[in-house]
Amino acid sequence: MDSGISYSCSQCGRTETDGDGSVTLFAQKNGWALTRRFEEGKLQLDWFCPSCWTRRSSTTLPTARKP
Ligand SMILES: [Zn+2]
Repeated sequence: MDSGISYSCSQCGRTETDGDGSVTLFAQKNGWALTRRFEEGKLQLDWFCPSCWTRRSSTTLPTARKP
């Protein structure tokens, strides 16, 4: 029953496997981040590895606000 879960970074494709089976624990332990978005009415989960997440949060995200 302990098969482990594979997570892959949506940015660089890096994968990491964790046997705990807890998404929250995995994120806390390894510094990964999970984002949720809706695409065509379906919930999409995107994982970011620590380096991609750092790059993402240091970059100014494009917003709907335009001059
Ligand atoms: Zn990555």
